[in-house]
Amino acid sequence: MAPLIDPFARPVSYLRVSVTDRCDFRCVYCMAENMTFLPKKELLTLEELDRVCSAFIRLGVEKLRITGGEPLVRRGIMTFFEAMSRHLESGALKELTLTTNGSQLGRFATDLAAAGVRRVNVSLDTLDEAKFAEVTRWGRLPQVLKGIDAAQAAGLRVKINAVALKGFNEEELFAMTEWCASRGMDLTWIEVMPMGDLGNEDRLDQYWALTDLRARLAERYTVSDIPERTGGPARYVRLEETGQKIGFITPLSHNFCESCNRVRLTCTGELFMCLGQEDNADLRRPLRASESDALLEDAIRDAISRKPKGHDFDYSRQRADGQMSRHMSHTGG
Ligand code: SAM
Ligand code: SF4
Repeated sequence: MAPLIDPFARPVSYLRVSVTDRCDFRCVYCMAENMTFLPKKELLTLEELDRVCSAFIRLGVEKLRITGGEPLVRRGIMTFFEAMSRHLESGALKELTLTTNGSQLGRFATDLAAAGVRRVNVSLDTLDEAKFAEVTRWGRLPQVLKGIDAAQAAGLRVKINAVALKGFNEEELFAMTEWCASRGMDLTWIEVMPMGDLGNEDRLDQYWALTDLRARLAERYTVSDIPERTGGPARYVRLEETGQKIGFITPLSHNFCESCNRVRLTCTGELFMCLGQEDNADLRRPLRASESDALLEDAIRDAISRKPKGHDFDYSRQRADGQMSRHMSHTGG
């Protein structure tokens, strides 16, 4: 079967799947406090998620990242992880992983490891309990720390993802770096994106440029570039003193589009070919139209033939052009 290659000769090998729009937190940059979630019938069932992921794997996807919303609050999600492990066993899938807020890792870390998950990304912006409660609104730090303990105890490699927020976690730059180093965890900083329009938060006010963050790290550590590229918006350095890898995700820059290897599936079956563009393909209709996967595969190929060259974000100083109307919890970030 011919693998998925887009019009710019980029192979599509990485699928990110949002399995729910729901979450047990309400992070200020991600959700409004009172969210209206999708009715259940709109969501792909776990069986449909299996069919669509398996189709992508047949078409050459080698890496699957499960996200949300909070993926671990989706009822029955472990069944899905267990089902995906057959693709790891066959060798078709090289990596099965997830991005989580960590709140449910205490319950699920062992099962995730048993399903073949080797690494998890845990989102954590601050180590201060009061600030954590403020930024997540509903989250409680001790539960997340216990989740991280459980993940490490189950043998999962944990990477921490932190959204860089000016005047919020700026002063924790070194404390977070050292805490991660002491636990053998890499740390990736994400530039805040103007996703959604919640009206109650001015994300431009909180914008902390990662070039500045990197310069501050260099005041204390020897920072060496690592050539590693993931086909996404992340760049990595190593801190020579701790041996740690530090990542910088600048989703608003254009400089990674030429190597983009990924597409994103929402929990309702929309396939977004580019994080910064609204064009999407409905995969739920072909999924539900027939029990065979022929229509689904055609729809996937057709969507990939429309993958755009790059995105439209431009975060020039005081303006956020290309502002996106959908939330990260919809496309899964
Ligand atoms: N609930 C899971 C979690 O928090 O890790 C997975 C979904 S969450 C939408 C994925 C990532 O997107 C998290 O690391 C979160 O911090 C990030 N994120 C959400 N809104 C963002 C925004 N406006 N700008 C930058 N990153 C954002
Ligand atoms: Fe939930 Fe993750 Fe969004 Fe926070 S960033 S509200 S944890 S989906």
